[in-house]
Amino acid sequence: MTYSIEKVTTLIGARRFGERDTQISFILSDSRSLCFPEETLFFALRSGRNDGHRYINELYARGVQNFVVSTLPQDCAQHYPDANFLLVLDTLEALQRLAERHRDEFNIPIVGITGSNGKTMVKEWLNQILSGDFMVTRSPRSYNSQVGVPLSVWLLDRHSQVGIFEAGISKPGEMLALRNIIQPTIAVLTNIGDAHQENFASREAKCMEKLQLFHDAQVVVYNGDDVLVKHCVSEQHDLHAEQLFWSCADAAAPFYINKVEKSGSATLVTYRYAGETNSYRLPFIDEASISNSFACALVALKLGISPDTLAQRMAQLEPIAMRLEVKEGQHGCTLINDSYNSDINALDIALDFMNRRPDHQGRRHTLILSDIFQSGLTPDALYREVGTLCRQRGIEKFIGIGRELCAHALSIEVPEKHFFPTVEDFIASAAFSQLHDEVILLKGARSFNFEQITDLLVKRVHETTLEVNLNAVVKNLNYYRSFLHADTKLVCMIKADAYGAGSVEIAKTLQEHRVDYLAVAVADEGVTLRRNGITSNIMIMNPEMTAFKTMFDYDLEPEVYSFRLLDALVKAAEKEGITGYPVHIKLDTGMHRLGFNPSEDISELISRLKRQNAIIPRSVFSHFVGSDSDEFDRFSAEQYRLFLKGSDQLQAAFDHKILRHIDNSAGIEHFPERQMDMCRLGLGLYGINPRSNKTLNNVSTLQTTILQLHRVPQGESIGYSRKTFLTRDSIIGAIPIGYADGLDRRLSNRKGYCLVNGKRADYVGNICMDVAMIDVTDIACHEGDRVEVFGDHLPVTALSDIMGTIPYEVLTGISNRVKRVYFQD
Ligand SMILES: *Cc1c(COP(=O)(O)O)cnc(C)c1O
Repeated sequence: MTYSIEKVTTLIGARRFGERDTQISFILSDSRSLCFPEETLFFALRSGRNDGHRYINELYARGVQNFVVSTLPQDCAQHYPDANFLLVLDTLEALQRLAERHRDEFNIPIVGITGSNGKTMVKEWLNQILSGDFMVTRSPRSYNSQVGVPLSVWLLDRHSQVGIFEAGISKPGEMLALRNIIQPTIAVLTNIGDAHQENFASREAKCMEKLQLFHDAQVVVYNGDDVLVKHCVSEQHDLHAEQLFWSCADAAAPFYINKVEKSGSATLVTYRYAGETNSYRLPFIDEASISNSFACALVALKLGISPDTLAQRMAQLEPIAMRLEVKEGQHGCTLINDSYNSDINALDIALDFMNRRPDHQGRRHTLILSDIFQSGLTPDALYREVGTLCRQRGIEKFIGIGRELCAHALSIEVPEKHFFPTVEDFIASAAFSQLHDEVILLKGARSFNFEQITDLLVKRVHETTLEVNLNAVVKNLNYYRSFLHADTKLVCMIKADAYGAGSVEIAKTLQEHRVDYLAVAVADEGVTLRRNGITSNIMIMNPEMTAFKTMFDYDLEPEVYSFRLLDALVKAAEKEGITGYPVHIKLDTGMHRLGFNPSEDISELISRLKRQNAIIPRSVFSHFVGSDSDEFDRFSAEQYRLFLKGSDQLQAAFDHKILRHIDNSAGIEHFPERQMDMCRLGLGLYGINPRSNKTLNNVSTLQTTILQLHRVPQGESIGYSRKTFLTRDSIIGAIPIGYADGLDRRLSNRKGYCLVNGKRADYVGNICMDVAMIDVTDIACHEGDRVEVFGDHLPVTALSDIMGTIPYEVLTGISNRVKRVYFQD
């Protein structure tokens, strides 16, 4: 559907500057996702620290001509002669208003889903259940925020027969806007859990906020067994909706669950709805899936799906995999594996993801795609759209798998293309064996079994991997940002290979989230980042005297901590004819590691800096020795005082602003009032709160597999030097990870443990170089089963505590031969 720019102007109540008549089909809030410039309307949103107005210039240069702004660019008619600017007070409100008006165009069932957990699962399952009968439009992935919801609702078009949208909130007052946009006819509350509780006075307050989604709905769906929810619903006096709640206890409930029987990997649910007793078999046994299935069943039945059809589709539900995985492949390839549902919106998001990850080796972009099912479009229209997306998103090579794609080969116009009826045909072909030096996106419907392709393409170095969750990194980043003022800058410390997580992919993620500075230890780490397309500012914390030239060549900004280093750097810069090169001055306020003495050295420092023009102080900083513990608060205060004194003196000698920074992760949280111009975030980014020693959002999971199981009788010893004797007949597993991988020997002989199928398995015997042995006598397990060394279920701090060290040491000790695998939800 398209809207004329004139219509949009009226709908959002804007003042229009610019004369050009155009039609709008796409809306954009993130400049990096631009795809169809001519038909795009860009909303310049302002958030805490970012401002969409900054990207107008770049977008205009790329062909965008329509902008919604709250501040008009200067001399806009002159600088942007072909553009329309729609001036409003608040651009986010305008975006929401436009989505609201778009929603008004549709007189179809719209399902709105909220709740603390399970929103995405219910949405995706409902889609799987309904899409045999309806053309469903739904939120992509979990686009459920103040910006995500309008973008989702915008996807409704004249083919849509049912809409399903998630509404997620994190603080009071947010639901009203989302409800006005979604205007659900059926509103679903999955459950109330603990997420985002910090922003609400009570669970009841949070529940009430979520229930605002219910207003004006015709039907509301919720868990009648949840006392709090039931109570809150009864408090909503102006609720006139039909109340469809489920209950296992109340036989009079609209959806009464008589029986839930688990057997093997499936659950049989028997229920009574509308006076009829029926059942369905769900291919899952966990509680969350079961309760989410009730919500799905209720909505589907309400929309007229028969109990028989429901049972048939429930049995075929697929797990919701939302991971986009980045893996190193063979022959110089990088694989992006998207196991998310195969549809055109998901394809677009995955292509967008691929384009956003810079690749300075300039490798080709290849898409391996299977037939897409259940799109609601005719195959002609569908594959024409796929072809357009590929062209717009710069796909250079296309490999299509499936009969429909073979039949629509002409719709895909890219420089190189191949088509195969099946995955097996592709694997047997020359096109498969010739893959090299490409970035490959794989996106296949489940029935095509693309795992066969990835299994062959992924480098198999070792069965032990470190899985790194990039979403968690972003969540942690946002957690620390929430302590900062909008204009406080942030340095992210990605030294020591990003605390073990792998600096390149972490840097790409941080660059995407517009972190002001990245910091590494040595010049070579900086060079690696630059070679991988990182353009952010990079600080070098331990610049080697031998690497100045490299730093200049790659635009890496050194820390300067001594007169000897300063003089050598100035000399090197002068030799290259460089002027005004930015450096970062370190003051020693108590660590007594590196740095100028703020009481004695500053005058001399100023005079040496003034005597030359090769380098220029960009920032001045110091480092707390104990911001993680209250015990050192007095000392920290003294450090801060010394830093203020030294940095004031330095600043007074220069006209330009010198950024000041002292807070590290713990400092940001403990001393937000000392954030100054910039903070340096390290450990917290990687998911460990240095103050509480607790996990924030876990980033890294070190995992391996059981190589071999042995029955070993009582009285035998395990491993080198006979350090563990068995006190009973035991089952011992061997796992392919040893101290050379970073599994510390201090964990040997039952001091430490790992998790096998969620249960504790002690390390027995001394940990060897490449292998360790674990006691799995009481654990049901098999060879090949996964073992968690640390991660989501076993915090890295549990290990560091046992070892008598800090989590930093464990994380940075994981050796390079452990393959890193990155994923994002
Ligand atoms: C490593 C480092 C940090 C980050 O410290 P965390 O405790 O990991 O937040 C900050 N500043 C400097 C100078 C560092 O070397």
